[in-house]
Amino acid sequence: MGADLDVDVAVIGSGLAGLRAAIEAARVGREKIVVGVFTKTQVMRSHSVSAEGGTAAVLYPEEGDSLQSHMYDTVKGSDFLADQDAVELFVKKAPEEILQLERWGMPWARRDDGKIAQRFFGGQSFPRACYAEDKVGFFEMSTLYDTALKYDNIHFYPEWAAVSLLVENGKFKGLVALELKTGKIHTVSAKAGVLATGGAGRLYSFATFGYSSTPDGLYIAYRAGAPLKDMEFVQFHPTGLVPSGILITEAARGEGGILTNANGERFMKRYAPEKMELAPRDIVSRAMYNEIAEGRGVEGPGGVKCLHLDLTVLGAEKIKKKLAGIREYCMRLAGIDPIDEPIPVRPVAHYYMGGVDTNIGGATAVKGLWAAGEVACVSINGANRLGSNSTTECLVWGAITGKAAAEHVLANHNQTTVNKSDAAAIEKHIYDELLGKAPKENPYDIRQELQTTMEQTCHIYREEKSLLQGIDAVRKIRQKLFRGVVDSSRYYNTNLMNVLEIEMMIEVAEVILISALNRKESRGAHARLDYPKRDDVNFLKHTLAYYTEDGPRIEYISPVITEYAPTERRY
Ligand SMILES: Cc1cc2nc3c(=O)[nH]c(=O)nc-3n(C[C@H](O)[C@H](O)[C@H](O)COP(=O)(O)OP(=O)(O)OC[C@H]3O[C@@H](n4cnc5c(N)ncnc54)[C@H](O)[C@@H]3O)c2cc1C
Repeated sequence: MGADLDVDVAVIGSGLAGLRAAIEAARVGREKIVVGVFTKTQVMRSHSVSAEGGTAAVLYPEEGDSLQSHMYDTVKGSDFLADQDAVELFVKKAPEEILQLERWGMPWARRDDGKIAQRFFGGQSFPRACYAEDKVGFFEMSTLYDTALKYDNIHFYPEWAAVSLLVENGKFKGLVALELKTGKIHTVSAKAGVLATGGAGRLYSFATFGYSSTPDGLYIAYRAGAPLKDMEFVQFHPTGLVPSGILITEAARGEGGILTNANGERFMKRYAPEKMELAPRDIVSRAMYNEIAEGRGVEGPGGVKCLHLDLTVLGAEKIKKKLAGIREYCMRLAGIDPIDEPIPVRPVAHYYMGGVDTNIGGATAVKGLWAAGEVACVSINGANRLGSNSTTECLVWGAITGKAAAEHVLANHNQTTVNKSDAAAIEKHIYDELLGKAPKENPYDIRQELQTTMEQTCHIYREEKSLLQGIDAVRKIRQKLFRGVVDSSRYYNTNLMNVLEIEMMIEVAEVILISALNRKESRGAHARLDYPKRDDVNFLKHTLAYYTEDGPRIEYISPVITEYAPTERRY
């Protein structure tokens, strides 16, 4: 008995990183390689579609920008935890990717001289975010999807959720996937894999992610023996629209929008006198938290304390041309028009700097398995990512890993042997333990409880006491009797998928909390009230969390420092 399906390269996830990897693998292996793209949602429902503000790259060195400057901004933004060799590779490859997308049809915004336009994002010394209105992700995804469809050696498997990776003697050999439409569990054999399942997503309730963004890929890689790196670093974006949490892009501040408190004061002048609203996200989010905590918040919808993002200073024309998407969100979801009124905002969970540990080539600890995009930690983002670097990272490491996976297949012709029995444990769990069994506790209440726990114990500021409470709460949540799905139907049983997601969320939440507890310093997005200073002597290190039955085992490795020794971050 073999696998249900054989492919050469299995790409798991179809966001920017997955699509870019699939195209590169198909291009390198044309005629010889079959690429399967397995994705939990429909392709164009991937979170990347909602990227708004821009994609960073140095395009005009003759006008004053430089690779060196992009590299330094990124390393400083990361609070010196990024691997500098990876950042150097990143800034070098970024311009190629912008031009490659252009050739594939990406409608980049233009300057008056016809060249690709760029705007400021936080922490940048030069405006280097390329954009398309404020819908950059939608246009990038459409461009990549159209391109991928031209390759007849790329096969899409939409609404196939990977539930486990198949690994034998440390080597990747395929995956087990749940086909949502039919409820069938498939074994897929593959000679190489690229994991591109995005970040940990909705572990928090006030978040910019869609409902389906959950840490599946992180969990299955962790269970397969790949360590998770730097998971304590969770990015809170300063401007989540109240009450929905929908993102108001940093480009709104890049275009000149300002943040004000209840006294109408531009409070950022007290926190980052030079960069003001365009300081990196960790700094702006902490400033906002402090303003609200010290009583200078404004009363937002539903009585929620928030601050004002004022775009009225930009004028109607600029807003309509460059920020049309967020204007629509504000009108539809908050009933205000940012041309006339300030937007109520507060910091919102938005991005995970951590991910599956990879080397500079995107290879994980599992041989034959690469990871790219938000699920991976290369690491160029260290303790804090700069806005507009993530979409670029997806493109750069999508291309690198797709190529590497294809070359691996070309060099290793033997198909791996996968048996139907490889899926036995998961089939038992899904068919015997979950389907048709009424849970004693409502899984959606459990999900909410988990999110509330993360909001309350591991948010912008953390301390030992809250983190210990969080760990205790997550362990209690794990014991709760939510594992069951009343509906025994196999067709589109979203309830079943949600229960599986909650199981994975619990494990990844535990990794985040334990990694945060162990890092007894403040660096980038990890701000400890009980250890307010950065401690380069003991913690200029990446955290690695390995799965064990008793919970994560933590180890540390040093970051790669080539050019820039750590200094104090001032903006
Ligand atoms: C609202 C918003 C706006 C943003 N704006 C910007 C911006 O302007 N600039 C910027 O640089 N960054 C931005 N970011 C960050 C950036 O968009 C993301 O980090 C990036 O798009 C992630 O892409 P990805 O390819 O790694 O994964 P995603 O786009 O998150 O896609 C994940 C994919 O994995 C699939 N998947 C998940 N689980 C499974 C499973 N179990 N089995 C199979 N498939 C699975 C999903 O179906 C999906 O296709 C933004 C993020 C958000 C949330």
